[in-house]
Amino acid sequence: AKSLTIGLIPADGIGREVIPAARQVLEALASDVMPARLSFVDLDAGFEYFQKHGVALPEQTLAALKGDCDGALFGAVSSPSHKVAGYSSPIVGLRKKMDLYANVRPVISGAAATASGEKRAIDMLIIRENTECLYIKEEELHEGPDGKYAVAKRRISEFASRRAGEMAFSMALQRDRMRQQVAASERTWKARPKVTIVHKSNVLSVTDGLWRETVRGVYAGNAEYREGVDVEEQLVDSMVYRMFREPEAFDVVVAPNMYGDIISDGAAALVGSLGLVPSANVGDSFVVGEPVHGSAPDIAGKNIANPIAAIRSAAMLLERTGYASAALAIYRAVDKVLEAGQIRTPDLGGKSTTSDVTEAVCRLL
Ligand code: NAD
Ligand code: MN
Repeated sequence: AKSLTIGLIPADGIGREVIPAARQVLEALASDVMPARLSFVDLDAGFEYFQKHGVALPEQTLAALKGDCDGALFGAVSSPSHKVAGYSSPIVGLRKKMDLYANVRPVISGAAATASGEKRAIDMLIIRENTECLYIKEEELHEGPDGKYAVAKRRISEFASRRAGEMAFSMALQRDRMRQQVAASERTWKARPKVTIVHKSNVLSVTDGLWRETVRGVYAGNAEYREGVDVEEQLVDSMVYRMFREPEAFDVVVAPNMYGDIISDGAAALVGSLGLVPSANVGDSFVVGEPVHGSAPDIAGKNIANPIAAIRSAAMLLERTGYASAALAIYRAVDKVLEAGQIRTPDLGGKSTTSDVTEAVCRLL
């Protein structure tokens, strides 16, 4: 039988509660939707680990990921707000060392997930380029005749833009294949997949111009994309405006690193609690599912963290590793629990525990 080995890196705070919850859900999958045998490897990382051992992302963890694992789930890290000598964020290190060049963030409204309780059909997938743009962190401080000034470099390459574009178009097609598995009467999605290319090339004609041309080139050069996917462009400022006015108009959105960071945090606000929003860090040969939220020290250790973001991140991991039916089963079980509304953690106004929500999802699998 096939097998799938998943590295589990709970790291800090509520990561230690929501990652075991996600594991429990994966283990509850029925064999008709999950044909592969699952195994798990527990791995260390995080700020607490750094405080004890002087390293935040140990070599053994990297070696195990590269050696035994087909993918991983990462919880959250408590990054200190002051500079600590020798410390650097393990998730940032992981993205670099495993070449996870795109951050993929679905933003989906469920009936129970919005603050108003009103049902909206938001179903966006934001692809954020994960390796360059302003995040190369080449900044300089200068002294000029009128005082100090600072300059930041922004790198946009054909290579990184092409990879992000490929990811966007291929995921648009993959989402479409997933949708076909849902009965037509239950589909809330638009019929044809669409990719929105975000840029600001009216101002940054060289950098964003290269981004736009390259992503457009990926589309133009692939017949499967041209046949199966529509493409549009949106300047980043009007992207934000439209996203708040008519979020249901978007499907896959692809953006350079900094715009993608801002858009995806903004989009998460459209669907309620941080405790609901998953992500995946994706490369060509590896994927790390990661809830968008942090380590939430204010609620850690109380069994009240919402496990849904981590559970959905586990489903994204399955989706990327070729187990779409299993992923879909998890998405639907979570939606049902949210729609029923009785079992909710306090961030959604309920009184249930992390374990209650996890067990409710498992019962529906
Ligand atoms: P946070 O996401 O940890 O928490 C923000 C607020 O949302 C808190 O009130 C928290 O209780 C709540 N919240 C978050 N996740 C929740 C969940 N699953 N269920 C219920 N409530 C939830 O952000 P923060 O407070 O700004 O940061 C705390 C620590 O996490 C910091 O050290 C920060 O650096 C780190 N952080 C890490 C990541 C990451 O690992 N990718 C992301 C953001 C913040
Ligand atoms: Mn952010």
